Amino acid sequence: MEHKVRLTFFGGVHRVGGNIVLLEDLDYDVKIFLDFGINTIDFSKFRKNFPDNNETKVLTDCHVLPREIDLPIKNVYSKYFIFDHNKSQYPQKVRECEGKVDPPTNLDGILISHPHRDHYRGISFINRNIPIYTGVVTKRIIKAYSRSSAQRFENFLYGLKWIRFRTGNVIQIKNMEIYPVHVDHSIPVAYGFIICTSAGIIVYTGDFRMHGPLQLMTADLIKKVKEVCKTKGQIESDFTYREGEVVALICEGTHIHKGSIESERIVKRHLRKLFNIMPFDYVIVQYGRIDWDRFRIYVDIAKKYNWKYIIFDKDAYFYNRLNKKAIYDSMKDPNIEATDNIIILSQEKRKFQWKKEVDQMLGNIGKSERIIHLEDLKHLDGRFFLYVTSIQYYDIIKNYLPKDLRGVFISSNVDPYAEEYRMDKRFISTDLLDIGVPSYRIHASGHAKPHDIIRFVHEIDPLKLIPIHTEHPEFFRKLFREERIEVVLPIRSVPIEISP
Ligand SMILES: [Zn+2]
Repeated sequence: MEHKVRLTFFGGVHRVGGNIVLLEDLDYDVKIFLDFGINTIDFSKFRKNFPDNNETKVLTDCHVLPREIDLPIKNVYSKYFIFDHNKSQYPQKVRECEGKVDPPTNLDGILISHPHRDHYRGISFINRNIPIYTGVVTKRIIKAYSRSSAQRFENFLYGLKWIRFRTGNVIQIKNMEIYPVHVDHSIPVAYGFIICTSAGIIVYTGDFRMHGPLQLMTADLIKKVKEVCKTKGQIESDFTYREGEVVALICEGTHIHKGSIESERIVKRHLRKLFNIMPFDYVIVQYGRIDWDRFRIYVDIAKKYNWKYIIFDKDAYFYNRLNKKAIYDSMKDPNIEATDNIIILSQEKRKFQWKKEVDQMLGNIGKSERIIHLEDLKHLDGRFFLYVTSIQYYDIIKNYLPKDLRGVFISSNVDPYAEEYRMDKRFISTDLLDIGVPSYRIHASGHAKPHDIIRFVHEIDPLKLIPIHTEHPEFFRKLFREERIEVVLPIRSVPIEISP
């Protein structure tokens, strides 16, 4: 018997991040990818080994992205839109690309679940005829991120064909219907997908949690799965009605093996406690830039205690873009323009377009004094936060922060696995010891806990359960050993057949 639907995992297998799942439906003649991410560790290894190489071929030979010969797809990668920053400048490359058309391909689309780079970064290399399906705000974040990052080949999005969706929309690809539904994660625009294939319903969670401020969104996914199961049921005869079943659940399992009881509310409560007895003059704080909930909590604390909240000009550009076009109320606040406690540290001397935008934003409202420079850090008036994303800021802390002030470092990263995690352990252990700054960790994860995953799986009640985005997929088999659910552990590049 020929199987109708096939799932092949090219990334996120036995590891956290870099999800790439190929879904082929032979009956509907549809081929799509669920996410097209790059694992952060793989990418840094590639960069270390080939610092000056900007070829897709080398990237795929190192298995950072799938090799063309392993894919049943023609021309998955772009022929013309690969940017080599060693050979040309960004505007020149854009001019070169104008009017160019990549060769035809038989891939029908790539669905991006959320704007963490371990889920989308591979799209820079994709054939420009392939539609990229993303949430409306997801696309905005991906683009703002690319604009405020180094102009390199992994950030070159020019020419991509975007198709945007919202919760409530139906994505129709030939006869296949796909329902995107928002879920709670460490960023406000993560989606799960309910895919109605010819073999039945397949659910892909993307990354999700059930303990964050938007936990009701994850509940919405569960609700929608049940609704789709009902409407996609078949009349078997005049008298019997069979509800549609979830034939496969592709479920993230970052924290399937360990949990802690935590929430954004607890993060806030701990911070308040610390501030009630605050013996420090400044706080260096670190979290992922896209982690909007965390950003809001810290700015709220800064406002409440009248501390300055210093962010870099690149961060200001990023947040301001998203403020301006915010659809969700949660992304209007904190508002970069209107919040006087937010001070912008201008580090970059070159006049990039994004930098001009930041200058203009505050210039237009007569608040240019809110932009400061490194030297100004030495004579700041009052107590302050300094938000950092990476180790390069060590020099700033060492050379520019006043020595007579007492500082503290708070790591509030979503997860060591989160996209933005680049803080070197050495920084925390050695360098902070060296400058006499104690470090704290106040944190809530972006991923579901074991008990939440179990509850989630039971609600969806799939025939097959396929773990992804976890270092411990076999743990799923142990947890669900006595149930009718068949746990299938994916092997990289080996198709899993899904029968109706
Ligand atoms: Zn994520």
